[in-house]
Amino acid sequence: MQTGIFNMKIIMCFEKTIPIVFALLLGMITGSFLNVVAWRIPRGESIVLPRSRCTSCGALIKWYDNIPVLSWFILRGRCRNCGEHFSFRYALVELITGLLFAGIVLKYGAGILFIRDAAFLSLLVCVILTDIDHWIILDSVSIGGAMAGIAFSILPGGIGILPSVSTAAAAFLLFFLIRKISKQILKKKPHYAIAPEGHEDETDEFQGGMGWGDIKLAAMIGAFLGPSATIVALFIAFLTGALTGIAAMIAGRNKRIPIPFGPFLALGAAVSLFFGQEIWSLYLTIGLNY
Ligand SMILES: [Zn+2]
Repeated sequence: MQTGIFNMKIIMCFEKTIPIVFALLLGMITGSFLNVVAWRIPRGESIVLPRSRCTSCGALIKWYDNIPVLSWFILRGRCRNCGEHFSFRYALVELITGLLFAGIVLKYGAGILFIRDAAFLSLLVCVILTDIDHWIILDSVSIGGAMAGIAFSILPGGIGILPSVSTAAAAFLLFFLIRKISKQILKKKPHYAIAPEGHEDETDEFQGGMGWGDIKLAAMIGAFLGPSATIVALFIAFLTGALTGIAAMIAGRNKRIPIPFGPFLALGAAVSLFFGQEIWSLYLTIGLNY
């Protein structure tokens, strides 16, 4: 009898951990794909072909040197052929995406909504990478993502199509208004904002305070999260964005050079996906007590 109970415990333990491990691996593979997407699409390259090559010597990267996270450590972040250094960022993106996927299963279980949450987090990781590197949020990610968010809303247990569409529209309008107002304010200081390095020819684009990419991204976040979790996401985004701006100014950064806002929106959205309901309830509890 004792061994029977023991076996049951082992089986129950496996039942819980196997989906988490599976999600971790799936996330690391997805992260590897997101690295490719974020590198190639802004450069106008295909994401399917050709196979990955070393950006320095052009050698094809063998499948066994392309295993997410693991290969980076085995090769100590260098090309097997020429020894060129590969940024740790690639492995970090794979690891974080893996942990995020595992986190979904840990928090919400391995149901059908895993697909929605995994897709959402993948889009957010892509936003962070392309906005930091190129000041770009891909339309396929923001607009395509908004449509995906609306489609996912009708899944059993989803947020429902009406909250999804209306929150997407409201978030879009809010950010569009912010852009209008900040454009009016910046008009009084012509060419106040200095375009970041490599974007000197797009100086006008940076005079609006809020880029079109951010506006479309806000709609995408609204479509996935619905009203209360979107409010939490935007609150976190504005708070962390402002704190980072202040910290950068204290560190001596020229305040006329803008900081991309997409990564803060993505961060807020990811935190809200995991803890939005808790933060919202906490807010309501505090609010009702006063
Ligand atoms: Zn090489």
